[in-house]
Amino acid sequence: MAGEPQDDCLFCKIVSGTIPATIVRETETTVAFRDINPQAPTHILVIPKAHHRDAAALAAAAPEVAADVLRETQAVADEEKLESYRVVFNTGSGAGQTVWHAHAHVLGGRGLEWPPG
Ligand code: C5P
Repeated sequence: MAGEPQDDCLFCKIVSGTIPATIVRETETTVAFRDINPQAPTHILVIPKAHHRDAAALAAAAPEVAADVLRETQAVADEEKLESYRVVFNTGSGAGQTVWHAHAHVLGGRGLEWPPG
């Protein structure tokens, strides 16, 4: 069922504390933690606590939580003192999504090229 924790989901396990992560912020509906394989000096993931397979599913099922995730990307950028940063939702395997629990990448601390690869 949409939003229910999934036994086989890595990020649900981070939410429950079963798998460790370096958590930098937490709200009632979201968790933000440092990416284990950072692609920039600051690389933080913001996820909804509830399980939704990608950003589109999250926006459709729980738009208020999608807004919370976006607000948290800004809060993370402020805490990290990022003047410029990129927020990325890889959606679908062709776009590089590997974990099927919605997450926003917040990347900053270096110049970021456009278009992305
Ligand atoms: O967008 P994508 O699905 O590829 O992003 C998943 C991200 O989750 C990767 O950047 C990966 O490094 C990160 N990850 C993590 N901690 C884990 C497993 C994956 O930060 N335990």
